[in-house]
Amino acid sequence: MEEKIIMRSDNPECDWTEDFEHENGNYQNHCHKCKALFFGHKRRIVCKKCASHQFLPKPAAFYGCIYNIVQEVGIANGYAVAIHGSLARDLDLIAVPWTNDAISDFELIKLIAEVLGGECRNENGFKIGLGNDAMYGKDYTPRPHERRAYRIYLGNSFEKQDGGLITYYIDISVTPRFI
Ligand SMILES: [Zn+2]
Repeated sequence: MEEKIIMRSDNPECDWTEDFEHENGNYQNHCHKCKALFFGHKRRIVCKKCASHQFLPKPAAFYGCIYNIVQEVGIANGYAVAIHGSLARDLDLIAVPWTNDAISDFELIKLIAEVLGGECRNENGFKIGLGNDAMYGKDYTPRPHERRAYRIYLGNSFEKQDGGLITYYIDISVTPRFI
């Protein structure tokens, strides 16, 4: 009886050892993610180590797309919108009334949330626009120089491997409008 020769790489954590007993299960491959050599089924494209990593959307790339949309909504409604922050955790924006026909800060925030399919909640966790500050809290968080801060939550939270959650949101500060 012919003895099967099993081959292994120098990186044991990269090999798909469970493939080895199967037909075509002990091929030498190169991982498309980390470029390491690994052994496993000939149709595998990533090593076992890379496959066990969780690949979440990169916040900065996601926020970059979102920013263009917010900017367009701003321009169409009399605002200049600028990024202010690192994009690492959330998207920090400043909106400045730019033209004489700039809409109100509240209208602007509602529009942005609507276009992005997001949800705007105040610091007490209530949706904005409920209209009773004493009961629900203000729609915005007051900041120095009458700046108003709003937060728009964007859809899903993603669960990380450590059990924590990544939530994408926009913090947007609107400077006062003088009419
Ligand atoms: Zn790899």
